[in-house]
Amino acid sequence: MAFLAHIVSSLGGGSVGGRGGATAFRAVASGAAVFRGGRPFGASASSPASSSGAAARFVRPSTTCLGSTIEASSASSSRTAEATAVVEHPSFEVVRTDTVPEYGAACTLYRHKKSGAELLSLATDDDNKCFGITFRTPPRDSTGVPHILEHSVLCGSRKYTTKDPFVQLLQGSLQTFLNAFTYPDRTCYVVASQNTKDFYNLINVYSDAVFHPRAVSDPMVHAQEGWHLELEKMDDPLTYKGVVYNEMKGVYSSPDSLLQREAQQSIFPDNAYGVDSGGDPAVIPDLSFEQFAEFHSKYYHPANSRIFFAGDDDVSRRLEIMDEYLSDFEDSPESKPGSIIEWQKKRYVDPVRVRYPYPVSDKGDEGEPDTHLTMTNWLLNDRPMTATEEITLTVLDHLLTGTTSSILRKTLMESGLGDAITGGGLSDELMQATFSMGLKGVRPENVDKVEELVMDTLRKVAEEGFPEDALAASMNTVEFQLREFNTGSFPKGLSLMLGSMSKWVYDRDPTEALKFEEPLAELKASIAGDGSKVFQDMIREFLLENTHRTTVEMYPSKSLEEEQLTEEKERLAKIKASLNEEDLQGIIDKTIALKKIQAAEDPPEARATIPSLDLSDLKREVTEYPIRVSENESNTGVTVVRHELGSTSGIVYASMAVDVSGISFEDVPLLPLLTHIMMETGAGEYDSVALSRRIGMHTGGVSVSSMIVGVNQEGAAEGAVTGGEHFITKLMITGKSTSDKTDELFSIFDLILRDARLDSQAKIIEMLREDKSDKESTIQGSGHSIANARIRSRYSVIGYINEKMSGVSSLDTVKELLDQAKNDFPALLARLEKMRNTILDQSTCRDGMILDLTGDAAVFEKIESSVQNFLTKLPGDSQGSKLQNFYSKPHPWAVQAKEEMATSAPLVDEGFIVPTQVSYVGKGGRLYNVGEIVSGTSSVVSRFLGTGYMWDNVRVIGGAYGGFCQFQPRDGIFSFLSYRDPNLAGTIDVYDGACKALLASAKDMETDPDALATAIIGAIGDMDGALSPNQKGSLQFKRWLTRESPEQRQKFRDEVLNTKPSDFKEFAERLKALKDPSLAVVSSRAAFEDASKAGKTFTLKDIM
Ligand SMILES: [Zn+2]
Repeated sequence: MAFLAHIVSSLGGGSVGGRGGATAFRAVASGAAVFRGGRPFGASASSPASSSGAAARFVRPSTTCLGSTIEASSASSSRTAEATAVVEHPSFEVVRTDTVPEYGAACTLYRHKKSGAELLSLATDDDNKCFGITFRTPPRDSTGVPHILEHSVLCGSRKYTTKDPFVQLLQGSLQTFLNAFTYPDRTCYVVASQNTKDFYNLINVYSDAVFHPRAVSDPMVHAQEGWHLELEKMDDPLTYKGVVYNEMKGVYSSPDSLLQREAQQSIFPDNAYGVDSGGDPAVIPDLSFEQFAEFHSKYYHPANSRIFFAGDDDVSRRLEIMDEYLSDFEDSPESKPGSIIEWQKKRYVDPVRVRYPYPVSDKGDEGEPDTHLTMTNWLLNDRPMTATEEITLTVLDHLLTGTTSSILRKTLMESGLGDAITGGGLSDELMQATFSMGLKGVRPENVDKVEELVMDTLRKVAEEGFPEDALAASMNTVEFQLREFNTGSFPKGLSLMLGSMSKWVYDRDPTEALKFEEPLAELKASIAGDGSKVFQDMIREFLLENTHRTTVEMYPSKSLEEEQLTEEKERLAKIKASLNEEDLQGIIDKTIALKKIQAAEDPPEARATIPSLDLSDLKREVTEYPIRVSENESNTGVTVVRHELGSTSGIVYASMAVDVSGISFEDVPLLPLLTHIMMETGAGEYDSVALSRRIGMHTGGVSVSSMIVGVNQEGAAEGAVTGGEHFITKLMITGKSTSDKTDELFSIFDLILRDARLDSQAKIIEMLREDKSDKESTIQGSGHSIANARIRSRYSVIGYINEKMSGVSSLDTVKELLDQAKNDFPALLARLEKMRNTILDQSTCRDGMILDLTGDAAVFEKIESSVQNFLTKLPGDSQGSKLQNFYSKPHPWAVQAKEEMATSAPLVDEGFIVPTQVSYVGKGGRLYNVGEIVSGTSSVVSRFLGTGYMWDNVRVIGGAYGGFCQFQPRDGIFSFLSYRDPNLAGTIDVYDGACKALLASAKDMETDPDALATAIIGAIGDMDGALSPNQKGSLQFKRWLTRESPEQRQKFRDEVLNTKPSDFKEFAERLKALKDPSLAVVSSRAAFEDASKAGKTFTLKDIM
């Protein structure tokens, strides 16, 4: 999470639920930006202990290294690259052609003759087609104009005249990606879809939006998305409202974001990166409509645009569509020079130190003392770097910070100077790369020691170099990620775009950025000759001898939140005092007018301008992925599940599931600690560093987690809401490797499972401190997921157990465990050992073991003997006893969980107090009773409510960053949630009005088949996300684990497709009768006090 890669915004923020698959497995995703600062590609779930994520460059799947075993993604992709002739179009000139064999991409760079726009077209075999248009938009101040514009252009345009075409697309397309981002120096608009007709629809709406937005002629858009003064009655105080205004208030509530902002600004005192393109809430109201419109006309010209396509669609059609939009414009030769980013010179002679306050709540003398954050930052280059320098830097970053056993990260954590790492090392998405590293949770007397330790560690490494096994592990890890190119549900085309844009946007070669084979080979040659010298030299040049360095310290302030509130109130009071009655009446009128516009429905003729699919364009059948289940494989007592896919590029994805139902319920909250330990403390003869290097050297990553899956009860009707007593609990060891390294992968699995070092007291204390810090950040920054988990814990046994492990109550658990680890470690160790002994019970453990494998035919052939070998050696008796049948008998934890729920998760409205300027408001309850059959129509209606009524009222009118709902068919529980919300009581009123609004919509739908179709298409889009190979395997595995039949899935899909207006009515009526609803809210003390004045009272708890 390096600070410069901080992408300030993504429009779709706040949506719940990742893509990909069966509704039953929807988890609450973090609602924040799609890529929350950091390199968005790769970084798939199974990268081990690595926080800085995927490698920064792109590499092709091919030859050399890794024993040449990661293959090109498919034979056809390389053919695509070679055999495709260059497509020509009279309106475009071909600037350059190239192939990127790494990704099987045939690339053509075009220039639109009339307008001067550049267009890069990649022909690949990926059916998840991607389109993006990027403008260079360097800001001059922190009014957030690029960010506000990013939101605003999607609010209606010349051809597409609804208030918010973006949300209409969100509601009713098959998009696999639909969003926009503001960087510190550019703004990107991106769409992706697997359906060609849908893809063209999305491109048309986005292209018209960026070039002809309503926002530049209608000040109401800027008012709504940016900021405006609001006044309802003459005697009320004035307030500021606006979507971006509140979004940025939320961002600035988090100490981590504040630290990142200050770090970035300190290191770039002179160029565009020294201001905040996202907007500083204190400065946003300085932006006038005229300046806003001017910014659009200056930067949103085709001549300042870079248009990108990737996928298997027709290249000539791409050119035709874009020509229609670009031909409206004459070339503007001054556009590009006018948006050039100036280089920040490395000009500090001595390192700079700065201090800023961050808000903490005033808890009196109770609780722990508030701590500081500190981070040291370098500007690495003030000239372009070579490709070899870049890849060397990427590997160096991994060596220093890539895993918890990397030298810099490890040294800082072991020092005990702070609780958790801050600053993600290298950030290289902008023109100039930076590096930053520090700690949070630092006592004031230790602040200076952190920087000293960072410098000492770097000096030591520069002197001594890196050990050979560390080099091998980091090289392999980076290379594996480059070659695998596993972007999960994130479109591959978008990853390619971001990669090429990192050069192209600075007028460098867009395709060179995607190639890694040559620089990698050069780096390898250098290592072969001189070992780690290249890295030692780089540390000296870029870090030790580089004085353009800053250290930022954030210190706690109990009064800051209050001061900011007061400052804003006084500012508004001053404005009000300066206005006469007529002016104020003008503001009142404008407030009413804006609300009226926001509340008005788009007329049908406007809605009809937005192109959409027909129901007949939708796929009727559920997509099933291959699965072959072999119980008691080769008489080992273990079940093996295999998913044989078309191609997995020579990689095997493996998960070993081990039953944990025997663990006593009191120890369940320790499961996250146990899985964490298994990943990080080392095992057997390997200490943590040696184990981490062994994993890095031979695999693509190994991780350990726990899983709870609700299952269908034997004999119960499929699709019925379960009582929540039937579920399966597993510990999962997950990893991937090339097929020739499978023995090594399995041997690591076995080692971790049996011999993880549970007795590493110092390391465990360190981990718990980091956990505590992470949990606090989550509560503060993703309060909606915390609120949702809390609500679910009151109605569902599984929800209760999940909350215990990862919700707000788990913060107390971590604090208790930390205490026990420090003061009575033997007792903690005894608990952990008992848990492991239970999990590995000689007699029953094999019955609960499932090995889940995903690969292609060649992979399965190669790994067969490794699998058999692994199974034979696993702990436990192959002829042991059976575990209980979880499909017929309640889970052993269920009884106790139910008893505890009554006291620990009562049906009361709870408020959790944290220092923040925004609220996260949750309300939920039981929508379906146990035993009732949930129809697929429910997912259509719930989604409709979230993207329609909730979006309009919580976001557009209320000014929150997000408003949505979540419904889980399996347990019948429904919740409303808001994200970075300026309101609290008002939002609850919005929730209470949902049922009435839904009834009205149901009525409208009787005469508006298009609205109904839109809702259905959107729901189908959610079910049909693009999946990576391991996600396909894992989805089908979970489907099987629940004992859900393919017929049931098809029935559910048929119901979705056949949803009728009456289903909306039925859902609304259920909502009206929502059983025992309750609230969970994360907010500030001041907001709870205000809510209480409005009659909404909560049982309050101070969290931090
Ligand atoms: Zn935004």
